[in-house]
Amino acid sequence: MLSLHNGTHDGLEVIPRWPSRRVHIDQSVWGHLLDTQRALPACIRLIVTRAYEPRNSRLAIARTLFRRIGSCLFATLYCSRRNEIRHIFDANGHDIDGTHVDVSIRLNGRRLRFLPLGVFTPGCIQKRNEASFYRELECVKSALRKTGFHIHQNPTESLQIHCDFAPIEQKPANTLRESSRPEHVSHGPA
Ligand SMILES: [Zn+2]
Repeated sequence: MLSLHNGTHDGLEVIPRWPSRRVHIDQSVWGHLLDTQRALPACIRLIVTRAYEPRNSRLAIARTLFRRIGSCLFATLYCSRRNEIRHIFDANGHDIDGTHVDVSIRLNGRRLRFLPLGVFTPGCIQKRNEASFYRELECVKSALRKTGFHIHQNPTESLQIHCDFAPIEQKPANTLRESSRPEHVSHGPA
């Protein structure tokens, strides 16, 4: 597990999300983020903002408190979006290990803010911001997917670019077909 402070590491920028001061991230996941960065045009830079936050840490306790208060406020403000609360206010794996990360985008030196009011940014503003930088956002998401990351399905979490590293096992096209045939099942040493 790597513990990275605010700054640029191996050419990749890290800005821990307040109140965190460091980003703890799985070493191999960090390597895959570096691969993602290398696949992007020079004008697009990734910023890693959040990864592992141990459950018993003061930071995790603070996050839990924020989430509880936040989910109540969200339910009051956005009655019609209550079905999103569990997606937006869940720890989404950040409390499990360093394979769940949030990234942000810097375009030509300017950090893109898709959620100026955080998760409380109204849907219409989210859509407008997404439309303004649709190509860049899709470029980043596509590069992340190609290096084994899955982007969160919820629109708000997706704009926060929450992604989980879980590479799909690359198997030759005929492997599954062959393994389903009884004659290929091994019953032990001949
Ligand atoms: Zn996240």
